[in-house]
Amino acid sequence: MPVKFDLLDSPNNDARPIKKKDIDSIVIHYTGMKNRDAAIKRMLDKRHKVSAHWCIAEDGKIFKLVNEEMRAWHAGISWWRGRGNVNDFSIGIELVNPGHRWGYRPFPSTQMNALIELCIDIQERYPIDPRNVVGHSDIAPNRKKDPGELFNWMLLADEGIGLWTKKFVQPISIPTFGPGSQGEDIKDWQVKLALFGYGLYQDGIYGDQTSEVVAAFQRHFRQARIDGFLDSGTGSILNHLLSSF
Ligand SMILES: [Zn+2]
Repeated sequence: MPVKFDLLDSPNNDARPIKKKDIDSIVIHYTGMKNRDAAIKRMLDKRHKVSAHWCIAEDGKIFKLVNEEMRAWHAGISWWRGRGNVNDFSIGIELVNPGHRWGYRPFPSTQMNALIELCIDIQERYPIDPRNVVGHSDIAPNRKKDPGELFNWMLLADEGIGLWTKKFVQPISIPTFGPGSQGEDIKDWQVKLALFGYGLYQDGIYGDQTSEVVAAFQRHFRQARIDGFLDSGTGSILNHLLSSF
């Protein structure tokens, strides 16, 4: 059943370089503004050059701001699974939440239910690979934290949206790697992170970029510990997810 929404009209969009049928990704954001109206006002203002296809308020109200065949401007400089400019091939969904700057708080169930309904609707219209349901932080780890560690990815995965580690995760035992670590082991983990989808150099040097990517992975898949260090726990989850493809 199509979702119910209020139609708004953001000027912040342009033509996609791909055909509508080739849309294959969903990017989830939080607005990071003090309230709903401020966030929507910003996305409707052409001076700000930002938008998303959809915005969902905390009470579950859904707003459509940009037609899906058009390219909304939500991701910015971004990379996922070998492709840059994620705006080109994705649908962007903003969730109203003050974010880390203004008082980050849990996403209410009314909002999550509306998101699930919307994602199911989108997935009926486009071939969205579960690997391509991502957070803004996954595709721009050096700049973004949204939707953040309070976002319930497991709830979405239970509805067939995106990935989660539901089954038993085979534990591995490795030293804890972090800034300053280098060598073949580091290179192997960088290759795995890149295989998963993240954009990073695979040079065997655990620098800022690797830390940021590991933190982004943790923010999505290991929310209890977000420190940018690759330890047995984080490594086990990454291995598990890679083995499920
Ligand atoms: Zn965002």
